[in-house]
Amino acid sequence: MRRPMVAGNWKMNGSQASIDGLMAGIRSGLKDGAEVDVAVFPPFPYLSHAVRLANGTGIAVGAQDLSVNTAGAFTGEVSGAMIADCGATMTLVGHSERRTLHGETSELVADKAAAALAAGLTPVVCVGETLEQRNNGQTDAVVTEQLDAVITRLGWENTPGIIIAYEPVWAIGTGQTATPDQAQAVHATIRSKLAQGSDTMAGQLRILYGGSVKGSNAQELFSMADIDGGLIGGASLSAEDFLPICHAG
Ligand code: PEP
Repeated sequence: MRRPMVAGNWKMNGSQASIDGLMAGIRSGLKDGAEVDVAVFPPFPYLSHAVRLANGTGIAVGAQDLSVNTAGAFTGEVSGAMIADCGATMTLVGHSERRTLHGETSELVADKAAAALAAGLTPVVCVGETLEQRNNGQTDAVVTEQLDAVITRLGWENTPGIIIAYEPVWAIGTGQTATPDQAQAVHATIRSKLAQGSDTMAGQLRILYGGSVKGSNAQELFSMADIDGGLIGGASLSAEDFLPICHAG
């Protein structure tokens, strides 16, 4: 009932040449009629390039961030309309690197989710706790607060337009994956939060897991009841690493 998604967050990596190779590898390795949606999130300068390479393949392309503003004197910022104009259809919001390195608050992330929807983009809203918060037993409270801010901003009526990515901060880029049971427990918390809006939405909305997913652990994670695929960082940078994860979706 929920179609799995495997999404690659390329972060600040790549070049036109390397993206040519990576996209060609992904395209040729994806099975026809695969039961998984595949998306890639290149750096801004390569959005149009990736969109051209993805044309006709069914691979979705998204940005890694967007501005809350629509146009004007905001040097260095990129609006949702510009991202959509490049042919991208999605954007990450609230990735932990944005929250940590750029001080993005839950309210700002919520505004970005709203800006994405206003531009016709699907926001992938990233939530997750630090190791310290997990060790203090605050995981559910942290994730719920991050999600609540978005739901409050969008209203329940617009919440079905998002995808959620649960990404424990301690698992991102560390090689330390959450166990399937740890991830499933948080995904179930998120889904029960969504059920406060409606059971239909809770049943339909995709919740991806992110944090050191690899070909060797993807199948076990994705087989959990409330895990609908993954948001992949390091292992999305080569087709050889990314494709087995897509095939596990
Ligand atoms: C990420 O950055 O979203 C991520 C999940 O990274 P990694 O897969 O490298 O842990």
